Amino acid sequence: MSKVLDMVAPDVIDYCANEECGAEIYFGQPVTKIGNELVCSGKCLIKKLGAVTVIAGREVSAE
Ligand SMILES: [Zn+2]
Repeated sequence: MSKVLDMVAPDVIDYCANEECGAEIYFGQPVTKIGNELVCSGKCLIKKLGAVTVIAGREVSAE
């Protein structure tokens, strides 16, 4: 929408620790920290931890 946002580089302080995501993490953005690594969302946190969401009692992915 705004061209100004494209020209002014935001303060990227890190990248999402989930390699599949790798999203830029900006200063002031709410993130989840795992040790010294940051992830951009709960979904990336789960991926990073190697956890999967399943239906209890059935090893079937809920996704
Ligand atoms: Zn991410």
